[in-house]
Amino acid sequence: MIPYKHEPLTDFTKEENRKAYEQGFEVVKEYLGMDVPLIINGERIMTDDKMVSFNPSDREEVIGNVSKCSRELAEKAMNVADETFNTWKKVKPEVRADILLRAAAIVRRRKFEFSALLSKEAGKPWPEADADVAEGIDFLEYYARQMVAMKDGVPVNQRPGESNRFGYIPLGVGVVISPWNFAFAIMAGTAVAAAVTGNTVLLKPASATAVVAYKFVEVMEEAGLPAGVINFVPGSSSEIGDYLVDHPRTRFVSFTGSRKVGTRIFERAAKVQEGQIWLKRVIAEMGGKDTIVVDNDADLELAAQAIVKSAFGFSGQKCSACSRAIIVEDVYDQVLERVAELTKELTVGDPVDNKFMGPVIDKNSFDKIMEYIEIGKEEGRLVLGGTGDDSKGYFVNPTIIADLEPKARVMQEEIFGPVVGFSKAKDFDEAIEIANNTDYGLTGAVITNNRFHIEKAREDFHVGNLYINRGCTAAVVGYQPFGGFNMSGTDSKAGGPDYLQLHMQAKSVSEVF
Ligand code: GLU
Repeated sequence: MIPYKHEPLTDFTKEENRKAYEQGFEVVKEYLGMDVPLIINGERIMTDDKMVSFNPSDREEVIGNVSKCSRELAEKAMNVADETFNTWKKVKPEVRADILLRAAAIVRRRKFEFSALLSKEAGKPWPEADADVAEGIDFLEYYARQMVAMKDGVPVNQRPGESNRFGYIPLGVGVVISPWNFAFAIMAGTAVAAAVTGNTVLLKPASATAVVAYKFVEVMEEAGLPAGVINFVPGSSSEIGDYLVDHPRTRFVSFTGSRKVGTRIFERAAKVQEGQIWLKRVIAEMGGKDTIVVDNDADLELAAQAIVKSAFGFSGQKCSACSRAIIVEDVYDQVLERVAELTKELTVGDPVDNKFMGPVIDKNSFDKIMEYIEIGKEEGRLVLGGTGDDSKGYFVNPTIIADLEPKARVMQEEIFGPVVGFSKAKDFDEAIEIANNTDYGLTGAVITNNRFHIEKAREDFHVGNLYINRGCTAAVVGYQPFGGFNMSGTDSKAGGPDYLQLHMQAKSVSEVF
C-alpha cells in the first residue's frame, strides 16, 4: 500500500476546476428535493414522517425530504446491527480496510458533486466544501492504513515456555451522531472509524445535512460494505437519540456536536440499564472558545490574516474557529485595525456564486448569533459588522467586537458564528492566562517570533491543538490529530494514531507450552 498522504485541495484559480465545480451543481440538481429513505440492513425504508433539509441560503429550496426514523425502526436497526456484528467482526481487517480505500476512490471521482452538495445543503463556500470532502477522503485513507497497521496487535514481553499476545478486538454496536458543520468529513470519519475496526454502526446524521450523509452511505455500499454494517437512521433526538444512547445493546457512542448535547449523552450513557453487561464508552467532540494570541514581537500581517481566516472561514461555524483574539497591548490597535481592513474585503452571499462567506445553518443559529452580537455591543465596542439578513437565507456579516473584558460573555460562551472578540493583555504571560480562562480547550494559536514565548505556549497554553504562527483552524488528518481538553470533549484525537483504539478493546492471551 502506498503511504498515506493528504488529499490536495483544489486550486480554484484554474478555469477547469471552476467548471468542474459548476458541473458538480448540475449533477446535484438531478436529485435535489429527493425523498430520502432510511437504510436498515441494506433495505430502503421510506417513512411518512419526514424532516426537510433545505438550503440555508434560500430556505425555499428543498435539498431533500428525509425519512425520520421512529423508535420501532430504531429498535429494528439495533437488532440488525447487533446481529451483523457477529459476522462483521470476523471479516479480516485488510478486507474492511479495502472497502474504505475503494470508497475513497469513488468519492475522489465524485469530489465536485459532493462539494457542490455541501454548498447547497450546508451553505459551504467552494474552498470550504472542497476541504470538507478532501478531509473525508483523508479519513478513509488514513483509518484504512491504521487498521491494517494494528491488526497484529502490539508486541509484549515473552518468557521461555510461554507465548504472550496482545491485540485489539471490536466493541459491538456503535451509535454515531454526526454534526452538520463538517457534514461530510466528520460524518464519514466517525462512521468509518467505527466500522473499519469491526463494529457495526447506527449512523444518525445531523438533520440539517442528512442528504449528503445518505449519499455517502450509498458510496460505502458501492465499495462493498455488507448490509447491516452501517445503518442509516436519521431522526430526532427526542424520538430516537436518547433511545439509542440509553439502549442496553449500545456499546459505544461517538458524538460530535454541541456541549449541551454532548454532556447529556455522557450522563445518559453512564447509566447502566437493565440487561446491560458493559460500561458504555463515549467519544465526544464538543465545542470550543478558541483564541489567537498575538505577541508584540510578531509578524502582525500574519497575525491579522490568521485571525480573519480562522474567525470567518465558514462563517465561524467550526468548533476550532477563532472567536477570541488576545493581543499584547503595544500592538493591539495595529492588529485590530488591520483585521478590520481585511474583513471589509470579505464577500458574503450564496455559495453558488463562490463568495468568501455563505449563510449560517438555520434560523436558530441566526437568532442566537444576533443575540450574542447585541450582548457584545453592550459588553464592548462594535468595530465592524453586527448586521444580518434573514429575508431569504440566514446571512450574518462578519463582526468584530473590541475592548472586551476577558470574562465578558462573548469572550466565554460559544457563539458558533462569524463573531470575534478582542481583548488586550499587558504582556505575553497575561495573554496566555486569558487564553486559558474558558471552560474549553480545543484549539489555540500563538503568533510570535519570541522563541521563549513559543516554549511557554507549548507548555502552558492548555489546548488539544496548539498552532504556532498560523491560524487555529484546518487541522489535517494524520498531520494534526484533532480533539480538545476540558469541555471541548474527551480529547479523542480524530485523524490521529490512537483514534481507532477508542473503538476497540484490548485482549491479552497467554499460552503456556
Ligand atoms: N477539524 C476542524 C478544524 O481543524 C474543525 C472540526 C469541527 O469544527 O468540528 O478546523
